[in-house]
Amino acid sequence: MTQIPLVSHQRFAGTVDRIGQGSTSVKVADQAWNRIAGKQLEDLAFRAVREISHYLRPDHLASLRGILDDAEASANDHFVALDLLSNAVVSSREVLPMCQDTGTIIVHARRGHRVITDGKDRQWIARGVQRAFADLDLRYSQLHPLTTWTEENTGTNLPAQIHIELEEGSDYELLIMAKGGGSANKSFLFQQNRSVLDPERMLDFLREKIAEIGTSACPPYHLAVVIGGTSAEECLTTAKLASAHHLDHLPTKPGPQSWSLRDPDFEQELLRMTRELGFGAQFGGRYFCHDVRVIRMPRHNGSLPIAVAVSCSADRQIECRIDADGAWIERLEHQPEKYLPSDRHRNGQARNINLDQPMDSLLAELAECELGERLSLNGTLVVARDLVHAELRSLIERGEELPDWFKNHPVYYAGPSRTPEGYATGSFGPTTAGRMDSYVPIFQPLGGSMITLAKGNRSADVAASCGEHGGFYLGTVGGPAARLAQDCIVDSRVIDFEDFGMEAARAITVKDLPAFVVINDHGDDFYQRARKASLGARIPVGTSGGR
Ligand code: SF4
Repeated sequence: MTQIPLVSHQRFAGTVDRIGQGSTSVKVADQAWNRIAGKQLEDLAFRAVREISHYLRPDHLASLRGILDDAEASANDHFVALDLLSNAVVSSREVLPMCQDTGTIIVHARRGHRVITDGKDRQWIARGVQRAFADLDLRYSQLHPLTTWTEENTGTNLPAQIHIELEEGSDYELLIMAKGGGSANKSFLFQQNRSVLDPERMLDFLREKIAEIGTSACPPYHLAVVIGGTSAEECLTTAKLASAHHLDHLPTKPGPQSWSLRDPDFEQELLRMTRELGFGAQFGGRYFCHDVRVIRMPRHNGSLPIAVAVSCSADRQIECRIDADGAWIERLEHQPEKYLPSDRHRNGQARNINLDQPMDSLLAELAECELGERLSLNGTLVVARDLVHAELRSLIERGEELPDWFKNHPVYYAGPSRTPEGYATGSFGPTTAGRMDSYVPIFQPLGGSMITLAKGNRSADVAASCGEHGGFYLGTVGGPAARLAQDCIVDSRVIDFEDFGMEAARAITVKDLPAFVVINDHGDDFYQRARKASLGARIPVGTSGGR
């Protein structure tokens, strides 16, 4: 039979550890087949989710350390990289997950044609996911619809997204990923045509699209770009897998094994371009991306799908396998402290801000700060996000007043994962600010949201509102939720909307919580300024995008 060059989506090139029994050999019609029990799939999925909730790949950690060692990286790049490395150390104690958004579990599996199971593979894998979310201090994020307009939490973090493909062989191989909402929302598909299939035009096109990703998915990113594909969904899926470095084995030229190829030259060109965007690792600098993957795929001559996807600072993926010799999982780094520099305090001083002062004097103190200046926040914040904001808007529409707690304190857009026993809170990091953009111009004239704190860039409307009403938006580092919970959040209590569960309004006391002035009371926007400085007025500035 002539070999057709179809790409296998599995890499399985890293170091693996044996964690359980392998398949059992059975004879069927005089041929050796491998039987895999459903419980083996469940246990593998459980173990994989536990690993990726607390540990990262060694090459991801080495890349963070590389930022610290790069003299050309900005001070803020260094600060973010050190915070993320410190977070990896806290998370590796297996109590606090690395990010408060413990994600949707996505499984891409390849089942060999000589593998026998009971046929309920997806059920068994889902059980392992469910068990991990029940046993560990993770967060249930999945909502199912009750009607088209109403929904409720499934209470298990299921469904997981599980794809199983059939391939030649006797092994079962799985890539298991956890994608947080902020990162998942930064997968984009663009239906283009032949006119952009040219190095310069493609670079211009991607520069604009990649800049629009912004910082709300917690850079530095592992960025993937796919050009082509037999369908929109193939293009997007390939970008997701490439962002997990799962397709690194693709050839750089077409051949008998593959019609798709990687383009290392264009990868380097795109990486250079991202370094010039000015965003850096969240607050200005060079490290918007760790690395870039570019994959060129076959296409219909009338279509040119282009997909862009990122893996965020919670770079959670693991490759697993069951074969005749055992159940295996990729070895993630269990000793992230070895990537920390000996001098952990080389980031200099930040301006100390006492949050427990009247709002007017707090605004006056922030008015003295530079755009992009690093702050250290101490005192009381109120925590409110999507549901609370929607409810407060309804309250105004009914002609009622905003509650005092919302007017007297800065508002932190955040939400914790489950609180482990003996801790003040679970992992507790910022959520994407852009989701609350539409509320700021409504609340600020009424004295609410005068100071907001979260991650990522915001729309021009928010900057205009801050300019008009004297407000501020402060950005905090997205990604190090375990470290923030351990080192910066002293106390957390529900103060309103208790029935919203994880989304209830809270008051928290913070100590040395890092923040940066992103939008000031003149309506100046740090990200806009960074982009203008690096690119001039060449690119139209997008909104906070897909969120
Ligand atoms: S690191 Fe940021 S983008 Fe990634 S899952 Fe966590 S909050 Fe979301």
